[in-house]
Amino acid sequence: MNYRISQRAASLAPSLTLAIDSKAKQMKAAGEDVVGFGAGEPDFDTPQHIKDAAAKALAGGFTKYTPSSGIPELREAIAAKFKQENGLSYKPSQIIVSSGGKHSCYNVIMALCQEGDEVIIPSPYWLSYPEMVKLAGAASVILPTTDQTEFKVTPEQLRAAITPRTRLFILNSPSNPTGAVYTREEIRALGDVCVRSGVLIMSDEIYEKLVYDGATHTSVAAFSQAHYDHTIVVHGFAKAWSMTGWRLGFLAAPEPIAQAIDAIQSHSTSNPTSFAQKGAVAALTGSQEHLPRWLEEYARRRSYAHQRLNAIPGLTCVNARGAFYLFPNISRLGLKSIDFCARLLEEEKVAAVPGIAFGAEGYLRISYATSMANIEKGLDRLEAFVRRLAGK
Ligand SMILES: *Cc1c(COP(=O)(O)O)cnc(C)c1O
Repeated sequence: MNYRISQRAASLAPSLTLAIDSKAKQMKAAGEDVVGFGAGEPDFDTPQHIKDAAAKALAGGFTKYTPSSGIPELREAIAAKFKQENGLSYKPSQIIVSSGGKHSCYNVIMALCQEGDEVIIPSPYWLSYPEMVKLAGAASVILPTTDQTEFKVTPEQLRAAITPRTRLFILNSPSNPTGAVYTREEIRALGDVCVRSGVLIMSDEIYEKLVYDGATHTSVAAFSQAHYDHTIVVHGFAKAWSMTGWRLGFLAAPEPIAQAIDAIQSHSTSNPTSFAQKGAVAALTGSQEHLPRWLEEYARRRSYAHQRLNAIPGLTCVNARGAFYLFPNISRLGLKSIDFCARLLEEEKVAAVPGIAFGAEGYLRISYATSMANIEKGLDRLEAFVRRLAGK
């Protein structure tokens, strides 16, 4: 049979992160001692009270369809979160709960973008953004950044990239893959550029709570009514509550955009899982005491890994102030990032993700969402690999 795959699907790039990950898993299954720096998810368990709430809902028969954009109780809890933590006033009708933050991003792009539109994405970027833009038939305009600017785009760079076709600017702070956190002033300045040009902003704030060294998170929507009117905030439960497998994300948008997304969702996935939503209510309204413990542990691992990486000859690494990734520069080591990662896995059994997967050649992504013992072992091996490469 000659199955004609739609152009839309055929245009997608296979996920390099998943490819490395599946190779690493195969090696592990074969009994090899692989250290994984590839994880895009916390290594902590979901807090017990969240599991209990979902289990109780499940046992109590909360197993049917819910409103497609989420149960009122959860949308209210999310609106309260935005009010208290971000100073943002949303009605529950402006909140859409989806099957993961990724799904929320997809819904935003599908609701706003079409053929002829341009979407501005700073690189290194989360690898799904450009693929989603393709699915919507629009074009990505990539704004490259380097470790020289701590992987941040400037307002001038953004302004220069805006054309009459620009529809959306994707901002992701704290960032996956670099861990970069824009300051309040930097966020405001980028928001100002978009407001002045009538460009909408998708602000992916899923790592909001994972910040270190006194860094703070500010939502671009919070600066003025105009900023609010131009912004869709995307968020989710995966990172700060370690609920990746629950598939629950949410967004807050101006009313007409929320309505459009509600329509898309009601005809595609319908509601996110009923009893998982009850767990999410507990995540938002229950104890947050897990978070300082996790942050302390992440910060400890980050400091250690940052210092170890910089001590490896030929490799440099700017410190990240958020998320759980470091993004060391390997450009002086003479291998393309994909070859570097393939050999690192083959020869030293360390899985890391090549920078090129995020649109940035000459870097690696190291996730420190793994135990300190793993980090020590993995960095010993990385160091041995680099020294061997350099012939020393
Ligand atoms: C993890 C992540 C998300 C959302 O992940 P879900 O598991 O779909 O909730 C969104 N954006 C970025 C940048 C992420 O790293």
